[in-house]
Parts: sequence; structure tokens; C-alpha cells
Amino acid sequence: MSAVRTVLGDVPAAGLGRVDYHEHLFQVSPLLPGDELTDEQASGEEARALRDSGFEAMVDATPVGLGRRPAALAAISARTGLTVVATTGAHRAAHHVGQPWLLEASVDSLAARFRGDVVEGMPADDGPRPGEPARGPSGPVRAGLLKAGIDYWSITPFARRVLAAVAQVHGETGAPVMVHLEHGSAAFELLELLAGEGVAADAVALAHVDRNPDPGLHAELAATGAHLGYDGPARHASWPDATILDCLLAVAGRGGADRLLLGGDVARATRYVAYGGMPGLAYLGQRFVPRLLAEGGPELVQAVLVTNPARWLGRFPVTNTPAT
Ligand SMILES: [Zn+2]
Repeated sequence: MSAVRTVLGDVPAAGLGRVDYHEHLFQVSPLLPGDELTDEQASGEEARALRDSGFEAMVDATPVGLGRRPAALAAISARTGLTVVATTGAHRAAHHVGQPWLLEASVDSLAARFRGDVVEGMPADDGPRPGEPARGPSGPVRAGLLKAGIDYWSITPFARRVLAAVAQVHGETGAPVMVHLEHGSAAFELLELLAGEGVAADAVALAHVDRNPDPGLHAELAATGAHLGYDGPARHASWPDATILDCLLAVAGRGGADRLLLGGDVARATRYVAYGGMPGLAYLGQRFVPRLLAEGGPELVQAVLVTNPARWLGRFPVTNTPAT
């Protein structure tokens, strides 16, 4: 079995436990004014609530330039016992307004930055020049995931540069890949682009596919080997959790059970209990997972929360040296 790169070092994928594949403990974006996640104490409380709701691990999916806090992630992980995988890469361009150092960077320069985050460790602060290295309780804090984002039925020149850089670093390190799909669109087109860059579908998680809750489409995507990221519970302004649950069960019924991932992507201070909002990171474990268990059974829960994320994230070589 392979290893997962966490903020406290590499760990065997087999021991990861239940994984929330997509959350944010820290995030600042011009698209989410008033929803900044910047308080280490409050974010730590949400991490603890997630753990108490039945998860052993989570992915912090905040990439370069959006307020990620590597040292704080490591401290929270050490304090709460929640395993955390941190992210490098970039989101779609609209999140990076005011960051020409990222938006205008070449593929090679993006790859150098992403490679540094995965191999050496992330800087304490992102900027035109990566700053001083972040230090966690066990040393440098390395990213264990490469992220890119695309727009609604559109893959912009910036997104193509990010994807090419992500593919380059994936080829060198094996690091898994997550791609934000706006409203779940353009998944096949994205997978085709990545395949052309040498990234096999099974290394990729397609985030937000459940924002287009179409089980037939998802079953076809699952057949490519790609992992399907469901992360829309508690957003019933769009549709009820039942829509997401029914879609997930239908995909599993069509042979896609070993491709499904589940997360909350709550991502907004106004939805974090510890920041004064609701329903918080505990919603997924308290409200959604019991319904998944009741309707899908324990084997499906094990696949979605344990086996599949371990396969997706566990792509680093196992070494005998302890994590540094
Ligand atoms: Zn997210």
C-alpha cells in the first residue's frame, strides 16, 4: 500500500480511517466576502467537531493564494488528532483576482511552486515569491494534493497552464489531483485534457459532480476510473440531500461504488458553528452519513469514506524513514 502525504508527514494509506474528501479550515477569496476562515482557534473547533462526528481525516482543499495556513493546519491536526491533507495548485481565475504573480505565471513557474509545496514544504505565506517555510510540530508542512479549477463549460488559458503544471508535478511525485468543476460541467473534456498530459483518470477527483446530480452521467464518469467528489449536502436551496443521496446510490448500483468520495465543502464562516454560523463541519457526519448507512449499507459507507479516499490519496512511495 502507498502513503498519504499529510501535514504531519507521510502515513500509510491503509490507516487513514474515514476521510472527508473536501473541506476548508482556512480560506480567503474575493468571491466569498465576509466568509473568511482565518481564526485558528475557531477553525480548530470545527476540526474537532468533524472528528467527533465520525471522521478521522480530511482534505483542506485551499490552494495557493487563498489564505491557506500550513503551520496552523499542522498545529490543529496535532491538537485534535484529525489527520489533514493540505493542497497546492490553484483555483479558477476568478478566485485569484489581484494575484498577477499567479495568473500570469508560466507553466514552468507554476510547476516549480507546486513542486516545492509537495516536495519541500509550503511557505508560511503565499505571494510573488514564496516566503519563509512554514513549520509544523514535525517540521516542514508539505502538500499532499494538487488542485486545479475550471469554469462552467470553459477551460481558460490560465486553467490550462495550471493543469499542465499539476500534470507535471503529478508525473514527478505521484501526488493525487483534485479539479473543481463549476456546476459539475466539462468533466469528460477535463479528463481528456489531463490524459493528454499523462494523468490517468484514477488519480483525479472530480469535485462538485453532484452539482449536476445525473446518475447516468456519473456512472459513465466512474467507468473512466476517475473518482467522483460529492460535496453538496446541506445546500437544499439547490436541492435536498435526498437528491444527492439518491444519485449516489444509483451510481453505486450501476457499478460506481468504488469511485465515490464524500465531503462537505462547507467553506464559509457563516456556515461554521465556531464562527457563529451553522450547520458546521459536523453536519456531514451527523445528518448525511447516517442516511447513507441506512439506505446504502455499511459496505458502501466503508467504500465511500475509507477505501476510495485511501486509494485516491495514497500515491506517495512508502519509505522506512519516519516523517520529518
Ligand atoms: Zn472547496
